[in-house]
Amino acid sequence: PIPEPQTTRETSFIGKMKKTGKNIVVFYGSQTGTAEEFANRLAKDAHRYGMKGMAADPEEYDMSELSRLTEVENSIAIFCMATYGEGDPTDNAQDFYDWLQEGDADFSGVKYTVFALGNKTYEHYNSMGKYVDKRLAELGARRIFDLGMGDDDGNRFVMSGVNFMVYLLSFIVCSHRPFDSKNPFLAAVTVNRKLNKAGDRHLMHLELDITGSKIRYESGDHVAVYPINDSVIVNRIGDLLGVDLDTVISLNNLDEESNKKHPFPCPSTYRTALTHYLDITNPPRTNVLYELAQYATEPKDQENMRKMASSSPEGKALYQSWVLDSCRNILAILEDFPSLRPPIDHLCELLPRLQARYYSIASSSKVHANSIHICAVVVEYETKTGRVNKGVATNWLKNKMPTDNGHKATVPMYIRKSQFRLPFKSTNPVIMVGPGTGIAPFMGFVQERGWLKEQGKDVGDTVLYYGCRYKKEDFLYQEELEEFEKTGVLTALNVAFSRDQAEKVYVQHLLKKNKEAVWRLVHSDNAHIYICGDARNMARDVQNAFYEIAEELGGLSRSQAVDYVKKLMTKGRYSQDVWS
Ligand code: FAD
Ligand code: NAP
Repeated sequence: PIPEPQTTRETSFIGKMKKTGKNIVVFYGSQTGTAEEFANRLAKDAHRYGMKGMAADPEEYDMSELSRLTEVENSIAIFCMATYGEGDPTDNAQDFYDWLQEGDADFSGVKYTVFALGNKTYEHYNSMGKYVDKRLAELGARRIFDLGMGDDDGNRFVMSGVNFMVYLLSFIVCSHRPFDSKNPFLAAVTVNRKLNKAGDRHLMHLELDITGSKIRYESGDHVAVYPINDSVIVNRIGDLLGVDLDTVISLNNLDEESNKKHPFPCPSTYRTALTHYLDITNPPRTNVLYELAQYATEPKDQENMRKMASSSPEGKALYQSWVLDSCRNILAILEDFPSLRPPIDHLCELLPRLQARYYSIASSSKVHANSIHICAVVVEYETKTGRVNKGVATNWLKNKMPTDNGHKATVPMYIRKSQFRLPFKSTNPVIMVGPGTGIAPFMGFVQERGWLKEQGKDVGDTVLYYGCRYKKEDFLYQEELEEFEKTGVLTALNVAFSRDQAEKVYVQHLLKKNKEAVWRLVHSDNAHIYICGDARNMARDVQNAFYEIAEELGGLSRSQAVDYVKKLMTKGRYSQDVWS
């Protein structure tokens, strides 16, 4: 008989990747084929993001090669790991599992992520995925994306799988460029603590870890964070519209002029779109009401919606009171117009994009090169309709605890440069005015002045005007500020407690009280003035206080005083970082 030609199966995945130009290898631990199918889809989809992927059965390859993955440029290993039986590996992943347990391989430099497939109703939910995720990190590999937890319970599997793929792939493709608004960095939250000692508000201090990101920032810059919407609102919209939120969708841009094919990464699900990409909490604009009106089956509802969208004085007044003043978001509108049940596709098309939120960075990179601090107040208020509205970003941040079930909580963020800068010469005095959360950038400024002093630099007067409600309740960073005062970094710490006595005491009152010293610093010593916090009233009232001081001590008329402050502004000696 003629002998069969010998076929040698390729057991080197590194060799295969190099030969075929692949940079993503997707290993699967699969028993029934689901994980394998996911791995194949992930590998295939990679090309849409400019990467090349291959799926691989760990049983067929020499897994000890994993430590050499760095030989392939820009490479990533993805593990789609199903859990079987009593938290066991699948048959084809058994050897790999044993080897991981026993081995002491060094995976330094290897980039990886894990998607776990399992079922929440089982006790050992996703234990195999969790194990691989943890073990690879222990052996030195670099987790580039949080463990994805797939739950094969009533369709959620499809959804979390699609989410994971979309995120992972768009993240991967972006991870080779510097971080910006289109490519946020996932910073781990390392500290999240409540700042106020009492009261029913929640003021918080967060620290975001930017180690390894190459992100640079200066005191005075802003950090932008992308929040996600509250699942309660998302679910309620799904219920009201009677749709399965986990349906996989693709939203195509029909606008030929548009340079984007999809408004957000697709394929997606309604749930992902409403959670991550669409603004569902701001009061909708009139054009949205106009478009939606056609779906209200009750003539009265339709008429009211059309009226609010019209430019008649009556319509404008109705929109102002019924939508804006009553703080009605799209959910409240659907609830209050029971006949309005638009198709969810049209709704997704009309809603604006969810925006990043800005925070004044409350740290100095001279002292904290690898972390960015945030000082924020959680937004929560009752509307005229009796509903409780919760601020999207602040309520989401509030729950971002450093470790959540052994999992790192992360925040997608980027830096926005600002003009709010300490004087170039450290000898220039600074006067900082920041009541409430307006203290944020000044924590960075004070840290930086302290650092300059430590470097042996001559540092001019550093004067702070801070204001809060009660000394015992919301004196933010009291210990830190008092310590800075004690060590002479802060030359004067002036605090206005507005509610500790019958009459209001605000920062501007203290400025006026200290007018001689203020005027000397500004007029004779070239001080730089900084205002941060509430834009609606505080910033204007403080500016008026400076006018009055210039009038009184400089002997200027009101219009001369106004000019005087204007000149300070053009010289960059009067800067504001305010928001409403
Ligand atoms: P959202 O969901 O955006 O809701 C906020 C909206 O709710 C408001 O715009 C207002 O329309 C409405 N609203 C709020 N309160 C009420 C009320 N009582 N009655 C009726 N309507 C109300 N914030 C900080 O805490 N710290 C900072 O350091 C900081 N720095 C900033 C710097 C810049 C340059 C800017 C532009 C903003 C800054 N902010 C800061 C504000 C911050 O960006 C967010 O706007 C804030 O945290 C609220 O976001 P949110 O998503 O929680 O609330
Ligand atoms: P806060 O704790 O409410 O106020 C800080 C201090 O400023 C309090 O002592 C307050 O006094 C005082 N104050 C009030 N009006 C003033 C004025 N005209 N001039 C000087 N001081 C004044 O501050 P916060 O929570 O940080 O918020 C600051 C402001 O920013 C808020 O007014 C809010 O409108 C705005 N803000 C908006 C958002 C948002 O969602 N867009 C988020 C955060 C903050 P009394 O309260 O006793 O009068």
